[in-house]
Amino acid sequence: MEYRKLPKGEEQISVLGLGTSSIGMAEEKEIDATIHLALENGINYFDLASADAAPFAAFGRTVAGNRDKVYFQVHFGAEYRTGKYGWTTDLETIKRSVDWQLKELKTDYIDFGFLHCIDEEEDLERVMFNGVLDYIEKLKKENVLHHIGFSTHTPSTADRMLDTGLLDMMMFSINPAYDYQQGDYGIGEVDERTALYRRCQTEKVGISVMKAFGGGKLLSEKTSPFKKALTEYQCIQYALDKPGVLTVLPGVRGQEDVRRLLGFFDAAPEERDYSVIGTFTPAEAEGVCVYCNHCQPCPAGLDVGLINKYYDLSLAGDALAKDHYHHLGKKAGDCVGCGHCDARCPFHVKQGERMQEIREYFGE
Ligand code: SF4
Ligand code: SF4
Repeated sequence: MEYRKLPKGEEQISVLGLGTSSIGMAEEKEIDATIHLALENGINYFDLASADAAPFAAFGRTVAGNRDKVYFQVHFGAEYRTGKYGWTTDLETIKRSVDWQLKELKTDYIDFGFLHCIDEEEDLERVMFNGVLDYIEKLKKENVLHHIGFSTHTPSTADRMLDTGLLDMMMFSINPAYDYQQGDYGIGEVDERTALYRRCQTEKVGISVMKAFGGGKLLSEKTSPFKKALTEYQCIQYALDKPGVLTVLPGVRGQEDVRRLLGFFDAAPEERDYSVIGTFTPAEAEGVCVYCNHCQPCPAGLDVGLINKYYDLSLAGDALAKDHYHHLGKKAGDCVGCGHCDARCPFHVKQGERMQEIREYFGE
């Protein structure tokens, strides 16, 4: 397992976490075995926006004794009175639901408490001013809640929430379809979405990724908006390459799904390489580096994707990115202008020219 550190905290978060939206359909024994399998393989981050109530008790049973090794992402706005998921912005219902979730999980604290699924401006206004946000802040002061988060599919509401300065984590839907305005949640301009990811990294807000496979649609050519299928591993790598991303949270139905997803860590670079999207993404994607490193190897030893990422983040105001750049072994100034990357880039980035621009910007 690989881990990424929460920027505003010490937590080391597994880059592959688990979503629990579908696990409730499995038998109790299978749910328990799936959680055990995940834990044994180093998965430590679990999103609890489940479609069913059943997984909460399963986590309570299976995590007992290992609570300090696990991070729960709990949603303030998901409620389970009927045994099934319901969505609410009502303060009293949220309080009752959070109490119920803590009881079922057999814990007295929440690692990450998220304002849940706030896509519309009016919903954001409501939770900011109807006491829900105050409630979350109070729990944080009391140390019942360790980090405040926010889940949304909408870049503009994400930006408004980031303006509060309260967030340590954000859950956002990231995949190549949505990023290029395809599919149900392809909300926001291409640039707006990219700017959001950079803003999160710059402001030290980690991103947990939902819908990395576009609700499964990207995995079949019949349902993919590109009319071509991508694999799970390509989608996971795509999301992990975005600035700010700490973990990807695919929804699993049982142990078989977990085993298959864990194969990502043994997959060859070609299996993770998603540069094929360069052949079917729209004009806006042309000439923009997505940090995929398909152009590797560079004969001069430059990490082309990383250099580009630090440059973009630095332009977005991330002082740390500038520092990271200056600590790289090979920098844009080492580019020999061979043109290998220009010829290999599926997004037609004129990388040779860009390296000169980057060298001038950083001074080396
Ligand atoms: S230059 Fe092209 S191939 Fe290389 S990292 Fe950027 S987008 Fe990927
Ligand atoms: S043009 Fe520069 S960055 Fe690209 S492969 Fe050649 S040396 Fe590497």
